[in-house]
Amino acid sequence: MITNYSDTVIRNLTLDPENWTEMRELGHQMIDDIMDHLEQIREQPSWRIMPDDAKLFLKKPVPQKPEDIKQIYQEFKQYILPYNKGNIHPRFFAWVQGTGTPLGVLAEMLAAAMNPNVAIGEHAAMYVELQVIDWCKQMLNYPAEASGILLSGASMANVTALTVARDHQLRLSIRQKGLRKVEPELVLYCSAETHSCVQKAVELIGLGTESIRKIGVDEDYKIRTDALIAAIEKDLSEGFTPFCIVGNAGTVNTGAIDPMDDLLAISKKYSLWLHIDGAFGALAKLVPEYEAQLKSIEQADSLAFDLHKWMYMPYEIACVLIRNAAAHRNSFAITPSYLEPETRGLAGGPEPFNNYGPELSRGFKSLKVWMSLKEHGLEKYAAMIRQNIAQAFYFGDLVQKEGQLELLTPVTLNIVCYRYTREGLTDESLNKINKEILIRLQEQGIASPSSTVLQGKYAIRVAITNQRSRQSDFDLLIIETLRIGNELSL
Ligand SMILES: *Cc1c(COP(=O)(O)O)cnc(C)c1O
Repeated sequence: MITNYSDTVIRNLTLDPENWTEMRELGHQMIDDIMDHLEQIREQPSWRIMPDDAKLFLKKPVPQKPEDIKQIYQEFKQYILPYNKGNIHPRFFAWVQGTGTPLGVLAEMLAAAMNPNVAIGEHAAMYVELQVIDWCKQMLNYPAEASGILLSGASMANVTALTVARDHQLRLSIRQKGLRKVEPELVLYCSAETHSCVQKAVELIGLGTESIRKIGVDEDYKIRTDALIAAIEKDLSEGFTPFCIVGNAGTVNTGAIDPMDDLLAISKKYSLWLHIDGAFGALAKLVPEYEAQLKSIEQADSLAFDLHKWMYMPYEIACVLIRNAAAHRNSFAITPSYLEPETRGLAGGPEPFNNYGPELSRGFKSLKVWMSLKEHGLEKYAAMIRQNIAQAFYFGDLVQKEGQLELLTPVTLNIVCYRYTREGLTDESLNKINKEILIRLQEQGIASPSSTVLQGKYAIRVAITNQRSRQSDFDLLIIETLRIGNELSL
């Protein structure tokens, strides 16, 4: 090495501000602005079309020179903040997305300030994370000895669980030999209404879509258990190796909850791993009216659910719980010399989280959960979830009372699928009209439902995991759907 660094070393470059007062003042300003924004979000349109100048502004070459932080913040306020997705808005009902909370915002700020890498070591964030995982078990009455890990979303939670399910079936040989050398052809069962991330998970763990048996559903969009048993029997007789059933606690289309007691009994009978995708619906277990229906998920081999949906935490956070902690560890534990734990010092502490999932570096996701659960208490969350369910039933009733609206599936949880109708119109033209109604609802900033197609019928789909929605928001959505529908079919 011939480079001479000495001139650089004495400059003591850093990314910390030269002027801390200016940074502190900007921070105060941001907190004031963001609290105003959240407090007044109801007065804002639910969504705005992002203009070309804002998009152009975001196509610049990488900055080489410093820019003023106040100016950067102005640009954020001008080009980014107004064109938010809007899931913090009281009339956001698209897909299944949570709203977050003001304390959640602050907790994220504190977590970023501490900025610990929550993989290994003796430091507080490791213990907060363990506390939150324990709280997750307690919330759903899952066994205390189970293991768990916090992940970015239910998609990753499902991948993690299905990896363990696969490895447990194939024992450890899978980690040494990989799938190519493994004999049995594993097959997995789930309903046709299962979220696409389960298929992605099966692809990622190397089994391929041909190993998925998508079982038909009944008129309530729940898995048909007779068809499930028939499929398992057929696979067994043809030499396949059934290894896993994925049950839905709340399907994404309609909120259907698969018959959990039956799935548990079938998984036991055939010695299959029972995994539950409870992305949002698992949390309905906190609501007395749903407790019994979801009781059996306590006995599932693994359980995946989001905290950024029906626990209203800021993105991203989900949890997977695995009954057999040793199996969980067997799938992921690996200890190279540079991660060797100690009994004392910074490398002491609880077992590294990277032994329980695919990631090494991990942010401090759990702080917002820890603070928020303390802020409101679990009873309040149960009441909020119950309110969202009540709102879905209320909205479903409103739809049924209107001659020009049609409820496309019975409401069973927090999702309502409906459409505008008019006598004499075919499904094809109704599909066109309803698609246009949905887009205008969004573009006019009134409300943001999403869509799905149910038995060939285009449905406006309202999914409620929103802690800001009020009864009047649903009244308005009815009025506006009718207004736009009537305008369109003139
Ligand atoms: C949202 C959702 C998922 C995916 O969860 P992410 O947090 O988006 O990764 C999986 N299953 C169901 C039923 C969902 O609603």
